[in-house]
Amino acid sequence: MYNRILIANRGEIALRVIRACKELGIESVAIFSEADRGSKYLELADEAYCVGNPRSSDSYLRIDQIISAAEIADAEAIHPGYGFLAENSHFNEVCRDSNIDFIGPTPEAMDMLGDKNKARALARKAKVPVVPGSAGLITDEKEGLKVANEIGYPVLVKATAGGGGKGMRVATDDDSLKIALDQAATEAKAAFGNGGVYLEKFVELPRHVEVQILADKHGNVVHLWERDCSTQRRHQKLIEESPAPTLPPNVRKDICEAAVRMIKHANYYNAATVEFIVDKDNNFYFIEVNARIQVEHPVSEMVTGIDLIQQQILVASGEKLPFTQDEIPCNGASIECRINAEDPERNFAPCPGLIEQILPPGGLGVRFDSHVHAGYTVPPYYDSMIGKLIVHQPTREQAIKCMLNALAELRIEGIQTTIDFQRQVLAHPDFVNGKVDTKWVERNM
Ligand code: ADP
Repeated sequence: MYNRILIANRGEIALRVIRACKELGIESVAIFSEADRGSKYLELADEAYCVGNPRSSDSYLRIDQIISAAEIADAEAIHPGYGFLAENSHFNEVCRDSNIDFIGPTPEAMDMLGDKNKARALARKAKVPVVPGSAGLITDEKEGLKVANEIGYPVLVKATAGGGGKGMRVATDDDSLKIALDQAATEAKAAFGNGGVYLEKFVELPRHVEVQILADKHGNVVHLWERDCSTQRRHQKLIEESPAPTLPPNVRKDICEAAVRMIKHANYYNAATVEFIVDKDNNFYFIEVNARIQVEHPVSEMVTGIDLIQQQILVASGEKLPFTQDEIPCNGASIECRINAEDPERNFAPCPGLIEQILPPGGLGVRFDSHVHAGYTVPPYYDSMIGKLIVHQPTREQAIKCMLNALAELRIEGIQTTIDFQRQVLAHPDFVNGKVDTKWVERNM
């Protein structure tokens, strides 16, 4: 077991990992940029090192600085959190070369799953359904048109290196496909240095359902059930819940088993999420694997009672998973609302600035994962998420009520946030009745 872990991240997830380290009796080493200097959550770590200037390219993405900090601090392992370097296989490899354990999969597994086209091929091999589409990358326009006409419009052009919705274009006919192929490739080349694209059938009104996986280095792979993350805006998740409210039990069983098969085929260990879209007839299709912990992991923790960050650390250090699939319950219902420093009235423009006052909610089954406090200034350089409000109740109906109360209790003064927006979504009959698809927010709110 490790004595010291460095956390290559900031904010809420850095605090989340610090807590897990304390619970395991491991010392934690934080890093910070000049913009985060003085943040109170850093005081909870055993040590903290400045890694550079505010911009993430000058700090949280500086592999050299982070490795130096780990070496100076004598950290045996690095937890990357999510975002920043979490899915950077080069960083993962540098950790390995520096004899520091990367708390995640091997660079090889990460590389394979990070390439969506390769991941699709692996899914086919694992007999996991993929969205109908091209067999591989589309290298010329003619071939693209041929595939699109076979599967039928509308189609989605996707970047094989894509992420965060970048390099994705919908096409409704031959003419728009020609443009979409070109635009998606150019955007992907600029953003990811890889212009490879492939085609998928555009699934109408899909739900986003993903399965949480834990795998150890001894070949044990289990799922921690599914999450529904259909409430999104421009591919950014806003609300996540577990269990998924609309999946029939047999589909739920199939989707969880498919995710486990996928991960077994990838020779993968540590935490992963296998993402699917589900059509209106409850057919599910694999879309991608996220080879890291995700923002929305707490809802799975609430229903299973399993601390995912602790398990990530334990399996990275070589321990066996302490439970079998049959021992993983799914109790009650959990919902998470992302609280962002954004102004919904101004098209969700980021709203950094000073938090003058904050009153967090509380009570049985209410969890607020956040690093902010009164007097904290939200820096303009990073993601605008400032906290995650999570509830856990015996039923979904109760969870929605509990979340509405908790959102009403949570008061943040000084900056605009998405709290009121979240209340409107939670109270909407479509949300209550499980009728939200991935484009619902854009159509209705
Ligand atoms: P990224 O990695 O860029 O986030 P994903 O492949 O995860 O891209 O897709 C992001 C979102 O786009 C999904 O959650 C879903 O809402 C939508 N999406 C992806 N593939 C399809 C598809 N074939 N049809 C319809 N919507 C899709």
